[in-house]
Amino acid sequence: MRRIVFAGFRGTGKTEVGKIVARRLNFPFIDTDALIEEKTGRSIPDIFHEDGEERFRTVERQVIAALPEKDVVIGTGGGVVTDPCNMQHLRKESVLVLLFADIDTIEKRLSRKPRPPLTNLPLREEIAEMMERRRQHYRAAADLCIDTSETTPAAAADCVIQSLASGYGTEESRKTALAFFSTGRINPQAFRTLTNLLTGKDRDPLTRIMGVAGYPAAHSRSPTLFNALFEKYGINCHYTVFEDPELDEIVRVARSIDARGLSVTIPFKQDVMEYLDEVDEHAAEQIGAVNTVVFACGSAIGYNTDWLGVRKPLASQKGAEAVLLGAGGAAAGAAYALTDLDMKVTILNRTPENARNLAERFGCAYGGLGEMDRLKPDIIVNATPLGMNANDKSPLSDDQLRAGMTVFDLVYTPPETPLIKQAQRLGCKTITGTEMFIEQAKEQFYLFFGIDVPSDTIREILA
Ligand code: NAP
Repeated sequence: MRRIVFAGFRGTGKTEVGKIVARRLNFPFIDTDALIEEKTGRSIPDIFHEDGEERFRTVERQVIAALPEKDVVIGTGGGVVTDPCNMQHLRKESVLVLLFADIDTIEKRLSRKPRPPLTNLPLREEIAEMMERRRQHYRAAADLCIDTSETTPAAAADCVIQSLASGYGTEESRKTALAFFSTGRINPQAFRTLTNLLTGKDRDPLTRIMGVAGYPAAHSRSPTLFNALFEKYGINCHYTVFEDPELDEIVRVARSIDARGLSVTIPFKQDVMEYLDEVDEHAAEQIGAVNTVVFACGSAIGYNTDWLGVRKPLASQKGAEAVLLGAGGAAAGAAYALTDLDMKVTILNRTPENARNLAERFGCAYGGLGEMDRLKPDIIVNATPLGMNANDKSPLSDDQLRAGMTVFDLVYTPPETPLIKQAQRLGCKTITGTEMFIEQAKEQFYLFFGIDVPSDTIREILA
């Protein structure tokens, strides 16, 4: 049996519920806050008061890194999940059970106990502020999710034990999902794996399914990447392909088997927003597209990590002059990233009207592709699909490029596009679409699991 780790805000019942679950499973219970007090010989309010929160978090990290690896139930402090290093340790061969409660309940429970202040705010405001700040982290720790507002610790423990035994989805929903996956779009070996995971005799009920949603999607490199990362970090998940012309069908299946999440690709990045309970401010308000859906505690939350995939490789060139080719979905994320880096951006597109619409949203200049001749940018970002097809030529002529400028081609199949080869020949600095893929996938993994994967790890897996 792997470890069971309780996460959640203070006052949600991690210790009480964890102790009962441990007793019923005949496992020891370890409370990380108690271990910290034992290790330092001081109470947690004293450590906060005398040494500050940072020192407390350092000791907490040491305690978490040294926890036993199996057959144990662990209760954690409320802020543990915000540290990616802690999440890496806690996620290994473990089930994370998120306990939550409404603010009135938490306030009532906490007002009875001594507590180290996390802010200078009154208790209720502090709870609201900290819960909001940690929301995304708690979601990344929600393999199972139990609301303890109205239940006794014993009833909550019953729920946990029942969920551990039944796992994700129902027998019927798993069978229906298998029919959805059996369209021949997934390769035979991957389909056999999925069949075992969903309906196999010895299936592990706690293996969670997730995948890439698109049409087409079978070519995606995300399954290879994510499944290798699950192996590396000891995460009990399987990543597959949700390929269907109907987004409605994809979302229905994903929800019915309680999938961990979806990476969303062409042509659903805008349409998927209709299916979400919440969208983060970057994805919704600014870019208008979602490429990541996290399912947590019954809700579907949308994020956009594409823009970070453009921003990160260009982060050292703040304030530069940039030309963005294209005005579609990828260009919207790129425009957001470039303007976020205070760049002076001109958007050029085959259909100038579309360039104008995008430019107006982000305060950029715009024009048709022919305008490139009069511009001398420091950076060119290609967000058109030109370069994907075998017969495609570079979207630019040699005299539109100059040595020293940066050329970033978002197209990642093939890894070396005609534009990248041309830019290398002319002495430009080049960034391939693979870099964008790596950075957006790294951010996705963080949103799904709270772990910060080094970019080089992803690069090695994809090589
Ligand atoms: P999209 O929404 O369909 O937009 C395509 C854009 O390219 C439109 O502005 C379109 O112009 C223009 N375009 C299409 N064909 C063209 C042609 N033959 N000549 C000139 N312009 C043309 O597509 P998208 O989702 O933005 O994707 C664009 C590219 O980014 C794809 O190759 C995709 O693989 C890549 N991408 C890479 C990553 C990564 O991780 N590296 C992530 C996302 C996307 P009109 O307005 O005139 O139609």
